[in-house]
Amino acid sequence: MRPDHVDVLIVGAGLSGIGAACHLQRRCPGKTFTILEARNEIGGTWDLFRYPGVRSDSDMFTLSYSFRPWTGAKAIADGDSICRYIRETARENGMEEHIRFQHRVVRAEWSSENARWTVEARRTDTGKSLVLTCSFLFGCSGYYRYDEGYTPQFPGIDRFTGQVVHPQQWPDDLAYAGKRVVVIGSGATAATLVPAMIDKAAHVTMLQRTPSYMLSLPATDVVADALRHRLPPKVAYPIIRWKNALLATLTFQLSRRAPGMIKTLLRKGAAMQLPKGYDVGTHFTPQYNPWDQRLCLLPDGDLFKAIRSGRASVVTDHIETFTEHGIRLASGTELEADIVITATGLNLLAIGGMTLSVDGADIDLGATVAYKGLMLSGVPNFALTIGYTHASWTLKGDLVSEYVCRLLNHMDQRGYQVCTPLAPASPQRKPLIDLQAGYVLRSVALLPKQGPAAPWRQYQNYPRDVVLLRHGPLEDEGVRFTRAPAAVRAAGTVEVA
Ligand SMILES: Cc1cc2nc3c(=O)[nH]c(=O)nc-3n(C[C@H](O)[C@H](O)[C@H](O)COP(=O)(O)OP(=O)(O)OC[C@H]3O[C@@H](n4cnc5c(N)ncnc54)[C@H](O)[C@@H]3O)c2cc1C
Repeated sequence: MRPDHVDVLIVGAGLSGIGAACHLQRRCPGKTFTILEARNEIGGTWDLFRYPGVRSDSDMFTLSYSFRPWTGAKAIADGDSICRYIRETARENGMEEHIRFQHRVVRAEWSSENARWTVEARRTDTGKSLVLTCSFLFGCSGYYRYDEGYTPQFPGIDRFTGQVVHPQQWPDDLAYAGKRVVVIGSGATAATLVPAMIDKAAHVTMLQRTPSYMLSLPATDVVADALRHRLPPKVAYPIIRWKNALLATLTFQLSRRAPGMIKTLLRKGAAMQLPKGYDVGTHFTPQYNPWDQRLCLLPDGDLFKAIRSGRASVVTDHIETFTEHGIRLASGTELEADIVITATGLNLLAIGGMTLSVDGADIDLGATVAYKGLMLSGVPNFALTIGYTHASWTLKGDLVSEYVCRLLNHMDQRGYQVCTPLAPASPQRKPLIDLQAGYVLRSVALLPKQGPAAPWRQYQNYPRDVVLLRHGPLEDEGVRFTRAPAAVRAAGTVEVA
């Protein structure tokens, strides 16, 4: 039997996969496509994470799609609202019929002879394998493992008689009312959990080894609201999106060029919202520069408010060992706890764990170089969505999808069937995700790299990417376009084993 064939196979039905499919439907109306999704739901991250208070930590006007503006009241939205938004987008655009749920892609093999991918997917319900073929493979599978988050080996953890929970596997029935909760971590998840749990818990302690930068911003965007009230949506939303995208880009660029100034501003901002005499130096002043790691956004300064209320506190120390009743710290202090939440991060996973091969040779992802941040050197007819780390994911996601559509149309117009990115001549390499955060550093060797200059360098600069990806030339020194073998073109379709 011949396997099913589509022009474009999208892997993942999260924010990126649904966006990619909508762009494809609009911009390449003749192309057939299917989305393979390992889970039984649309939404990815925003369906998976269920901990109290789960929310965006970038504004929704830029985290939403360019073609479907965010109309919610708040600029910082809760996880359920984001998930609903993705599902409504999928429904409105008729995407549900294109998705095959419970299909995990495990391997994709490119054949130059046939100018196509043969993709193996495993059903997550029955365990059965099936094979599809496609002309273009589009990875929208996020960047981390879904089956488990990262938990360091804490000494003595088995002795602890309370409950240990990772935010990625939040039990529906976790009863924390009246309990003493310790949240280990200092990133966005810890900063979200602490204020969200203080209403019910007896006390919540954020236990961090080192602090993170925290930026308090209003949960509602007054400028956006004013524009939304005064202007028609078609005019207002692009303006709001550009305003916020530029603000994020400027903040990042300023942090890079004048880190000392941004450090001082962040420190002063925290001090103003914390009780008088609070030790901001110890608890909210990291050693690294702003944006070496992600900056945590606090809507309406909620974490600072929680500390002011006395129901939450921050401890900056090292864990010596878990004990029966809590955690003993290097300073000798013992934190008593009924529940410990390990908000210690994610395990990165590139391209959803699938393996790739090209003409029989397995691809070592760590040795590839990303071309324009969206294709990989030596891997034909393949793109992946990795959003910004310093601004909303979707700003980049939309540009990646637009680029792939332009590329497919360009290839059709010029009679090309194959597009293969090349590695830069310079041997200089940097990680594609250029953050100093532990979860990135743990996986650097396994992730694609970036080169020293365009089109292989990531600038984390939205206006620059708009020029490059939306308007820039599709043919340059970083990519080779070719035609499929004559027999393949003549046949129109290709027989595969
Ligand atoms: C708690 C949390 C908060 C975040 N907050 C923000 C924020 O405020 N702003 C921001 O910009 N970013 C944020 N991010 C980053 C976030 O992941 C992106 O916003 C966005 O959700 C990424 O969408 P995605 O579709 O690319 O990936 P995901 O949301 O991870 O979805 C990937 C989908 O692909 C599927 N999949 C994976 N592998 C396979 C496979 N092999 N075969 C088939 N299907 C597969 C998964 O099941 C999933 O449905 C946050 C991340 C987390 C974890």
